[in-house]
Amino acid sequence: MVLPPPNVTGVLTLGHMLGDSVMDALVRRARMQGRATLWVPGVDHAGLATQVEVRRRLAKEGVRFEELSREAALAELERWRAEHERRIIEQTRAGGFSVDWSRFRYTMDPASVRATRDAFVALYRDGLVYRGERMVNWDPRLRTAISDLEVVNTEEETTLVHVRYPFADGGLGGIEVATVRPETIFGDVAVAVHPDDPRYADAVGRYVSVPISHRRVPVITDPAVDPTFGAGALKITPRHDPVDREIALRHPELATPVEIFDESARLTGAGVPAEFHGYEREEARAKVIAALDHAGLLVRSEPYRHSIGRSERSDAVVEPRLSTQWFVRMAPLAAPVVAAVRAGEIRIHPERWNRAFFRWMDGIQDWCISRQILWGHPIPVHTCRACGTANVALETPTRCERCGSSELSPDPDVLDTWFTSWLWPFATLGWPERTELLERYYPTSVLVTGRDIMFFWVARMMMSGYRFRGDRPFRDVYFTGMVQDETGRRMSKHLGNSPEPLDLIRERGADALRFGLLFPNPASEDGPFGMAVLDGARNFLTKLWNLVRFAAPHVSAGGDAVRDAPSLTRGARLENRWILSRYRRAAEESEAELDGFEPSRAAAVLYRFVWHELADRYVEIAKDALAGRQGEPAARETRATLRFVIDRTLRRLHPFVPHLSEELWHALPHDGEFLATAPWPAADEVAPDAEAEVEMETVLEAVRLLRNLRADEAIAAPAVPAAWIRPSGPEVARVLERETATVTRLARVGPLEFLSAGAASPPGAAGRVAELGECYLARPAPAAGETEALERERAKLTRLLDKEQRRLADEGFCARAPPEVVRATRDKARELAERIRRIDEHLRPGV
Ligand SMILES: [Zn+2]
Repeated sequence: MVLPPPNVTGVLTLGHMLGDSVMDALVRRARMQGRATLWVPGVDHAGLATQVEVRRRLAKEGVRFEELSREAALAELERWRAEHERRIIEQTRAGGFSVDWSRFRYTMDPASVRATRDAFVALYRDGLVYRGERMVNWDPRLRTAISDLEVVNTEEETTLVHVRYPFADGGLGGIEVATVRPETIFGDVAVAVHPDDPRYADAVGRYVSVPISHRRVPVITDPAVDPTFGAGALKITPRHDPVDREIALRHPELATPVEIFDESARLTGAGVPAEFHGYEREEARAKVIAALDHAGLLVRSEPYRHSIGRSERSDAVVEPRLSTQWFVRMAPLAAPVVAAVRAGEIRIHPERWNRAFFRWMDGIQDWCISRQILWGHPIPVHTCRACGTANVALETPTRCERCGSSELSPDPDVLDTWFTSWLWPFATLGWPERTELLERYYPTSVLVTGRDIMFFWVARMMMSGYRFRGDRPFRDVYFTGMVQDETGRRMSKHLGNSPEPLDLIRERGADALRFGLLFPNPASEDGPFGMAVLDGARNFLTKLWNLVRFAAPHVSAGGDAVRDAPSLTRGARLENRWILSRYRRAAEESEAELDGFEPSRAAAVLYRFVWHELADRYVEIAKDALAGRQGEPAARETRATLRFVIDRTLRRLHPFVPHLSEELWHALPHDGEFLATAPWPAADEVAPDAEAEVEMETVLEAVRLLRNLRADEAIAAPAVPAAWIRPSGPEVARVLERETATVTRLARVGPLEFLSAGAASPPGAAGRVAELGECYLARPAPAAGETEALERERAKLTRLLDKEQRRLADEGFCARAPPEVVRATRDKARELAERIRRIDEHLRPGV
């Protein structure tokens, strides 16, 4: 596996820890299964995102990033990288994730530089990388192109302005155009209407005058115009709107549009009247509206809600901008990936994400890979100043390959970060060299990551895998859920609601954090994480610790490590047969869940087995035999069973809680140096024993019934009342009679007598009827002195009850008091009445 390299933008969040916990569970199990495992760690330079962080930090210190020299800026970036890389490594180590640290990689290390360059050159030579003038998403604050995936679209409140474009031939009227961006009026090359719109039949072919700048532009028709929007006429600004750009491409007769914005989206250029130069979009808009109003061309303006794209990195409103950039042609790369996923060659878990995946792949756009920033791999292109040829080569060229000139300019841009990360599954194994590592471990097995980078990263790794290696990069993709806080908000750095994992590890331990992240939330669902979840995990680990501490002296008695399952004879003790059978089921189930990429469910199976079956039931029952009260053969058989089950349980828990399981395993007799490398047990070492399970269910049911009767009768701990059971049939009778000692000990009753079908019920006893028969419990007679105490208690409760009942009888109270107070009063009265009833039963048993 490759570890998705975390961005050096920040440090690890709980979301990273969740993914790492899933991966570690998978890799540790595979290692114990004796498979060759490799888990490669690394970090990502995260180009633009990191530059934004550094820019922000410097701004706080009063330094403008843009004013630093190139060297000083790179030094700041490098300093940031080193700090964050160090903390990420510290966090990963603290979590106990078993990555291969000797193979740690960085997306800008020399081997990554080589791989990135190689991929670019290969794609360029195959015609899959090209330079072109395309509409890009321009971030005017960061002054770079950003990817479609980095644009966040939300509905915002703006103003829709209706502007009249007068006819240029002096004819009456004109055309009314509705726009939210009147400041782009200086870039207009036409006004377009729908070809079937009768309102404009006379206008088509004529010219209108663009307000303020008084340029003549034609009225054209295009089917892309929506006749229901505004008055059905669209101003065409091809350099700053993707739809306008498409329309302009269909109308080659139109004038070449001029650029009206600089890199910061301030008005500029020959097309813009001087008084508007230098204004940013918002200010320019206000000035243009005022000028339109002054010229009498502003028809009206109205509030308007529509979707606006902002840069995920800087929150600036993204400017669609026609710009010369480098692109990867995606359709030919996507085709084999779609086929592979459809054919099941790569499987996505959970399967529901398949739909989103195919939808994106089917509509895939070319990928703009150039960024106008400092932090990243330089684009390996040198343009000849003499003849204009782009020299694209693995080694930095010294002469133009076409004209031989040595006047070469390196491309000023850098590559999008993902252009390196998409090579990760093979670049980390030595590609483009044909290394032994690459031959052995590519394709990788599993990729575990968050679905938020399904398109940024996962889909692109698939494309590069088939392109450069002719094979899938991994067999399975597992998307974890998003970790949320207790109020259901996604944890994020911006909200400040994500705790620092190192603090949690320091306070509660790495295993508690890992187990808490996996359980009880399914790892593939979004789920809340808070202290309650962490406490739940820690309580489980404490339970496990206490269990093994209790068991250690018993199971260490033999001194030998556990090798095989104990072979129980036909007459073996029920609890031993039962726990082996339950272990077998837990083993099988947790195994199936891990195979099916349900690590949380696997953890839940083990949790329930350890807590409810092994600790709460089996150990409670087995204590008697372990103490030697049932004779030495029973003690020996029970020790062997307990020791086997604990050994196997620790092995199965190891992938989830490696530290605690390793520690406990060493406290018991064991073979081998580490649990981490001990063999993974086969699930079928012991056979299921359905008979033992049914019989134990009967025993536990009897215990439950008797305990409930005790609770109903409020019989305090030291009392051991007599009990009776009238079994519903001979099978139940046989089991309960044989297991009488267990039932009486666990239910704390005695003696226990069995009633035949015709026998009378014990007089004065509390009774219950259930599937296994009738259970009765003797009500203890009140002891001397106790009667008086109960009478006093009864009198007190009666006074209280009267008071509550008087309140409830008062109509004024019921009408005025808040409903919850009335409800509480009613509950209180009911509870008091119930307590009085109980006392009455004790005072007059049998009545
Ligand atoms: Zn040249």
